[in-house]
Amino acid sequence: MTEDPLFGYRGYARTFLMSNNIKIGDRVRIKKLKENFTVEGIVMPRSLLAEDGFIEIKLDNGYNIGIRITDDTVIEKVKEERKEFKGGLIVPEIPKPRPGLPKVSIISTGGTIASKVDYRTGAVYPALTSEDLYRAVPEIANIACIEAEVLFSIFSENMTPKHWEIIAQHVADKINKGFDGIVVTHGTDTMGYTAAALSFALQDLPVPVVLVGAQRSSDRPSSDAAINLYSAVKVAAEAPFAEVVVVMHGSISDDYCLVHRGTKVRKMHTSRRDAFRTVNDTPLARVYRDRIEMLSNNYKHRDKSRRLKLKNKFDDKVVLLKVYPGMKGDIIDYIVDSGYHGIVLEGTGLGHTPETLFPAIKRAIREGIPVVMTSQCIWGRINMNVYSTGRELLSLGVIPGEDMLPETAYVKLSWVLAQTRDLDKVRELMLTNIAGEINPRSLISYYPPL
Ligand code: ASP
Repeated sequence: MTEDPLFGYRGYARTFLMSNNIKIGDRVRIKKLKENFTVEGIVMPRSLLAEDGFIEIKLDNGYNIGIRITDDTVIEKVKEERKEFKGGLIVPEIPKPRPGLPKVSIISTGGTIASKVDYRTGAVYPALTSEDLYRAVPEIANIACIEAEVLFSIFSENMTPKHWEIIAQHVADKINKGFDGIVVTHGTDTMGYTAAALSFALQDLPVPVVLVGAQRSSDRPSSDAAINLYSAVKVAAEAPFAEVVVVMHGSISDDYCLVHRGTKVRKMHTSRRDAFRTVNDTPLARVYRDRIEMLSNNYKHRDKSRRLKLKNKFDDKVVLLKVYPGMKGDIIDYIVDSGYHGIVLEGTGLGHTPETLFPAIKRAIREGIPVVMTSQCIWGRINMNVYSTGRELLSLGVIPGEDMLPETAYVKLSWVLAQTRDLDKVRELMLTNIAGEINPRSLISYYPPL
């Protein structure tokens, strides 16, 4: 709870609220007599940087609005509701677990979904616990029996392969304790990388592992946190598949979420709520409030008797490098000289680089550093047999990354190199489909995406 019952209110607005005995969290009715305007909502804290003379309230539809205090403004308290106040949310009691429902573990790692606005600065920072989230979306108590805990509170741009190892270990422990599904709340920026990492690290999964995030924090108007979390828990509790998936808004309205395979998903927009798309495949399913509609029948079935294999080691000396016109080989020489173990190139088109890079690529491979080719086109498949450039790169020993996303190939190479540095074995593993990252089919229907 903020200590100051009128946190952020200064000057006239503060005096106005004090004289009417109103505090943050109270439910109020505000009238503007001249305009015949009435509105009801809960008084919110105010950013210290915001203009004086306004009262900020949260409406019942979840939107926050600011009301300017004028001569004809009258405020009355409808109800004192300051039980618990956190991060811009009035949090209800934690729901009582209902026996008989599937058991779902929610592991929070941070990101916008677990963030709130810092009313001092107006910036968003990761501070809500998974329990706070659970309280904020109490309907999930109707679909699962929840255990919630915080593993990290970081933005996902700060994730490292070490974090992937710890998350995978933690998820494995929960699965071994008998949970029916796991939800990992995560920042959206690098959620695709972590989803791929968990897909390789958690083999022979008996139950689903669902990553979920939000593009807008729960205390902002039009936040997608609640519906995304609800849908993620629904998938963890009820979906027929046992795979690592990402569940996020599917459209710009609040009607459904999409379920994406963890190795085939990418954040495709900086701010839209439907930013996540499946690339080079069909999403696994759509999640509505009351049902899960499967869009593919190509998945590993849920089976609690299956024994999970944990392979959670990643080599952090791998580079993901974008190819561009005018690029020179000295960057690759630098990577080799700096002791890196593997390189994933995000090449142009079907899998090309300028010829000026050939000597450096040749040297890297000669020194035992695998070089994997993916495409910056994002959609489509690598084909290095079409042009002489591709053929030449193949003859240097470059490994074609098929239809893998560059990020997935980067995570996979880091996972493979933690097991072997033998170039033939690396090549074999990179060309083997392990977790749905290589789709043997390239259907015309994959693009544009659903
Ligand atoms: N930068 C944030 C993160 O990835 C954005 C988000 O969560 O959506 O953690």
